[in-house]
Amino acid sequence: MLVARELVLAGATVHLVERGRIGAEASWAGGGIVSPLYPWRYEDAVSALANQAQDAYPSLASNLFAETGIDPELNECGLLMLDAEDHADALDWATRFARQMNQWQADHIYQHEPALAEGFTQALAMPRVANIRNPRLLKALHRWLQQHASATITEHCEVLGLNHADGTVQSVNVSVSGQQESFRTGHVVVAAGAWAGSFLEALGLDVPIEPVKGQMMLYKADRQLLTGIVLNQGRYLIPRRDNHILIGSTLEAAGFDKTTTRHAYTSLKTSAERMLPELADVPIVQHWAGLRPGAPRGVPFIGALPGFKNLSINAGHYRNGLVLAPASAALLADLVTGRQTKIDPRPYDPAQRLANTSFASHSIIADNSAQPRTQPR
Ligand SMILES: Cc1cc2nc3c(=O)[nH]c(=O)nc-3n(C[C@H](O)[C@H](O)[C@H](O)COP(=O)(O)OP(=O)(O)OC[C@H]3O[C@@H](n4cnc5c(N)ncnc54)[C@H](O)[C@@H]3O)c2cc1C
Repeated sequence: MLVARELVLAGATVHLVERGRIGAEASWAGGGIVSPLYPWRYEDAVSALANQAQDAYPSLASNLFAETGIDPELNECGLLMLDAEDHADALDWATRFARQMNQWQADHIYQHEPALAEGFTQALAMPRVANIRNPRLLKALHRWLQQHASATITEHCEVLGLNHADGTVQSVNVSVSGQQESFRTGHVVVAAGAWAGSFLEALGLDVPIEPVKGQMMLYKADRQLLTGIVLNQGRYLIPRRDNHILIGSTLEAAGFDKTTTRHAYTSLKTSAERMLPELADVPIVQHWAGLRPGAPRGVPFIGALPGFKNLSINAGHYRNGLVLAPASAALLADLVTGRQTKIDPRPYDPAQRLANTSFASHSIIADNSAQPRTQPR
């Protein structure tokens, strides 16, 4: 939807086709942290998009609220990383990318978050990191597109394939309520998340995007237990403005399966109570799973697909699709419309990356985002 919005703002006429209900897959299922977890452990290509997007979110959220009446509830609550040991790498990264990051000792930690479990002695704090209520962001984007005559959204419409000749996509084959149809198109953008890799296989393109299942749960507290996002041992708690608290998330290789499991329930509950013991008495009101579009090293594919003149991709954002989305959509729209890009597009360029055969041995789920790159100092 953000790609569609960027293209509409650039003057294009856009037809957005969605197999199910719009905004009901990974972008709904995610936690909405507007930062990668342990951001310095990612490649600079992820930081470049994340930082541009973080800076863009406040005006995006307020413009959407003003124009649609739906508040995406961007909440600049801060991110507290309680266990990060690679402080030197983290601080180097923060200096290089001009991100605010402070080292906190125990007194500071408990002054800010008195309900945390005892025993945390040090943390890295990023006070400017926000969370966005992603289901509301999606509703606002949906409404925004509905308000613009140059955008058409067709739900319950599955793209079955593309008709192409001489490297030009001529039409899109779809199934709407069991009826097969096709329509002509000028340019196609594949923004099919975890399904993008399997969709493109039919065109002979081997784009390494695979589903990585994540389960999350939602607590409903009756008062504020936490002021900001806290992260410990790869698990995080996200406070919403109305005292809901999310606990996330699992990382599972389970194909396209989205069922929730008892094992994940117990594991997430244990992690939540280990960080915030009072959650033991707070009801869990929801438990769900979503499919992240995993890509090597968590770097999304953005740009033209090789061998085609009018086919592009914006997918593979793995654990960071919400934070990266505004910058990623802007980059894709710049590339499609031939505008000057704000960041270097090469690290995301499918043509360059698909020429690199080293993907074959790469395990997507084992990316190093939750582990220090180097030994703790
Ligand atoms: C548990 C969990 C927690 C997360 N937490 C965060 C977080 O805190 N911060 C963050 O930045 N990111 C987070 N993420 C990651 C983020 O949610 C994803 O990277 C992002 O939502 C991917 O967006 P997308 O639009 O590519 O995919 P999706 O939102 O999955 O959208 C793809 C859409 O394409 C449709 N589609 C697929 N194939 C077809 C077809 N053939 N025809 C028509 N339609 C089709 C699908 O139905 C779907 O609606 C999390 C993800 C999960 C699962």
